[in-house]
This record gives sequence, structure tokens and C-alpha cells, in this order.
Amino acid sequence: MKSAAPAFDNTFARLPERFFERRKPAPVAAPRLIRINRPLAEELGIDPDWLAGPEGLAVLAGNDVPEAAEPIAQAYAGHQFGALVPQLGDGRAVLLGEIVDVHGRRRDLQLKGSGRTAFSRGGDGRAGLGPVLREYVVSEAMAALGIPTTRALAAVMTGEAVFRDRPVPGAVLARTAASHIRVGTFEYFAIRRDVAALRLLTDHAIARHYPEAAQAERPALAFLASVAAAQAALIAKWMLVGFIHGVMNTDNTAISGETIDYGPCAFMDGYDPGAVFSSIDHGGRYAYGNQPRIAQWNLARLAEALLPLIDHDQDRAVALATAVLEEFPRRFEAAIEAGWCRKIALPEATGADVALALDLLRLMAEQRADFTLTFRALGDALTGKASGEAARNLFDDPESFDAWAARWRDRLAALDADPADRRAALHKVNPRFIPRNHRVEAVITAAVEREDFGPFETLLGVLARPYDDQPGRDEYALPPRPEERVTQTFCGT
Ligand code: AMP
Ligand code: MG
Repeated sequence: MKSAAPAFDNTFARLPERFFERRKPAPVAAPRLIRINRPLAEELGIDPDWLAGPEGLAVLAGNDVPEAAEPIAQAYAGHQFGALVPQLGDGRAVLLGEIVDVHGRRRDLQLKGSGRTAFSRGGDGRAGLGPVLREYVVSEAMAALGIPTTRALAAVMTGEAVFRDRPVPGAVLARTAASHIRVGTFEYFAIRRDVAALRLLTDHAIARHYPEAAQAERPALAFLASVAAAQAALIAKWMLVGFIHGVMNTDNTAISGETIDYGPCAFMDGYDPGAVFSSIDHGGRYAYGNQPRIAQWNLARLAEALLPLIDHDQDRAVALATAVLEEFPRRFEAAIEAGWCRKIALPEATGADVALALDLLRLMAEQRADFTLTFRALGDALTGKASGEAARNLFDDPESFDAWAARWRDRLAALDADPADRRAALHKVNPRFIPRNHRVEAVITAAVEREDFGPFETLLGVLARPYDDQPGRDEYALPPRPEERVTQTFCGT
């Protein structure tokens, strides 16, 4: 049944008061709707027409709090670029509450950019229009690509300026998440040696995300293993589409396994395992190819926090947690190797097939071939006729691709598959459209400089169907021209 306003059913707000601050969003001067995500509203059981109307707009802007909402700013800590920050928390966001969607899944509804909280640490609690649009576009693109992620329900303008390096229009993003519980949420209580809170948080997180862990002999250990498995799968999915999160701090690592907190994130154009875009990532800590190592490092911080719940004997707890962490590289490798093989139409991921896939990646890296276009072009390179031109022309040395493609076709010939099926299968795992940085920047510039949201709408439309050819949208598939190239992305504040 579809109700007008969201039907909240809050559980996190039932936890002890030290888990959060009860805080209403700060009203804004002149709310104006930029966009609502109608299919997502339907999924949440919220009437999209209500949400787009004056009552919905007031809620999305933070000017009105619906009856059953219990707005809170959540407490968390985190390791930022490797250094512990004992208190972070929602400094510019409030969780309005939880909604059980039409599929029975529990989802957080959060406003981001909704004003100061107890955790603002000198920040203004607000968000600029640019970062709000970036998160909207990229999170929705990720969802359409089939990658676990928080979702964008709506974006509104506040009618107020926020001051960054210059005044920019303020905005609020309404987003949903399986939950906003982060590795840093566990660290927050571990640092305070608040084992009672850790136990409550772990029980809550298990019930919500990994209920089967409750049946295990050691639920906290089973929970750690489940989070690790979800992270291994997630990071593999990122890397298979060329995604760089950019700021994989432990406070930006959701224990649900969803991608969260889109700041200086980027998709690669030319393939480069060392690619870094974030302007604040000087050492390349969060480079494309470092992401699995960092995920494991973040999981080690979760493991440390959970130790007192794993076993009373610390040495035993450490040994058990270490064994779980040590499985991570193997799990990740298995996921990504299977993925690389699928991207070249090899279903099994045997040693020889993985080597073949890695050989293509090596060629791409040496010649900075466009990541997305190369894989997409393989569907047309299957037969080796003139249609293979598109793929080979992406390489500075096309003959090096020809040599690889000859080996690839030999391997495919040994498998029995209909070429049309094979091409269709390739197109289902190799997107044509990704949110390329220069397109995202163009969307932001048009909106911020000219209040023109046309490019935003068009880009969202294209990215909603990333695996379809979409004739007439060819320019959205293309990498930037040299003068369009974006070499740096900036943080989400
Ligand atoms: P982020 O880098 O966006 O993941 O944010 C890191 C921390 O800084 C979180 O605790 C945020 O809530 C906080 N923060 C970021 N921007 C602001 C802001 N404009 N005002 C207050 N807190 C902020
Ligand atoms: Mg964050």
C-alpha cells in the first residue's frame, strides 16, 4: 500500500542515547525541488506526487519533520588516511528514520546537508549543490550498473549560499541506505572501551544485515566474516567498472557492503592501476589498484573493535579474527578473477583464462586504452572481421591487440556458445555508459553557474540504462577530448 508521507519504523533510535544526538534538520530559507527519484519513492512506498509537492518538499528540505520521524545525528569515529579521529559523526546529516520498503527491506532515509549537529566540529553542516549533484549522479549510476550503493531519493536547493572557496548554492540530498552503520561506528565505542554499547551495536547490525550470524558459535566473528565477504564482493565490482572511491576511510565504509559517501570519486577513462583523482590523496593511498588492500586494512580496524566480543581471551580473539582477515585476499581475488573472465566471455575463470584476461589488462595499462570502451568493443571483436576495428583502434599499437585477440578467439572457439548469445552476455557485463568525470563536471557547472539542470536530467537518463546501446547518445560513451579531461576531483563538502 502506498502512503503519502513515509511510514517510519525506527530501530536505531531505540538504541541508547549515547549512540546519537537527537537533532532536527535546520530549516532553510527558500526550498526548491531539483528532482525526485520517482521509482525509488515507489519502492519505499512513498507517493511520488506527494513527495514532489509542497509537503514533500518541506520534508526534503528539512523545514518540516514528518510525525513518525525521529531525526538523529549518528555518532561514529574513523581512521582518515590512516589516522584515528576519535569523534566524527554526522556533522551535516540527520537520519530521519527507517522505512521498510515494498520488498520488505529496511532502509534508512537520511538528509545530507541539513545543518549543524553536535558532530559538526566547526563545519557549517551544509552541502554545496555541486557535491549533491555528483552524489546523485554517481550513486544512481552505480545502482543501474548493479553495484550495491546508497541511493539518491531527491535533491533540493536551499535558497541559501554556502561558503566554500567562494559562495556556492546550498543543497540537500535525501538518500537511502541499507543502514548508515560504518566501521567507524564500531571504532567509536571501542575507543571508549564501551563494550556494552559494542555488544548492542553488533546485535543490531547482525539482526539488520547478517541475521544468519546470530546462529553462529561466535556471532561477532561470523559478523566480521560476513562484512569481509561483502567488502570483497563490493571492491571487486568497483574495480570491474573502473571505479575509484577516492576516500576509503573507515567512516566511509558501510558494514552493509554498500558503496557510501561519494566525495572525490571517479571512473577511469584510460586504464591505469595507479589512477588517483582525489585532490586530497597526495600519497595515492586510495588509488584504483590499492582499493582491495585498503578494504582489508579497514576490516582489520573493525576486527580490532570487535575483539572483546569475539573471545574473552584476547590472544584467542586475535587469532580467530586474523584467520578471517587472512581469507580476504583470496576471496577478493576469486571475485575479481571471475569478473575479468566474464568481461571477456570466459565463464570458468581457470588459471589459463585468468592469465588471458590479465594479459589484456596489461596491454590496456601499457597503452592507456580506454577501460570502458575496450571491454564494450569486445562484443564486436568476437568474430575478428572488420567489426573488430573499434577495439583495435583503442590501442596505440593495434597489432598488439590483434595478437591478443587471436589467442582469445582460439580460446573461445574451444567453447561451445552461440555468437549472438556471447555478444549479449558481454554487453550485460561491459557497460557502454559510465559517469565520466568530464560529463559530471559539465552537469555541475551548468547547474551551479547557470541554474541549468537540463544536462543533469539528460545524464541521469543515459546512465539509467548503462548496458543498452542507446543510439543517438554516442557522445556520452566517449572519453574526454584533451581539453575536457578532468584530472582532479574534490571532496564532498
Ligand atoms: P566526509 O569526508 O564527507 O566523509 O566527512 C567526514 C566528516 O566530516 C564527517 O563527520 C562529516 O559529517 C563531517 N563534515 C563534512 N562536511 C561537513 C560540513 N560542511 N559541516 C559539518 N561537518 C561536516
Ligand atoms: Mg563520510
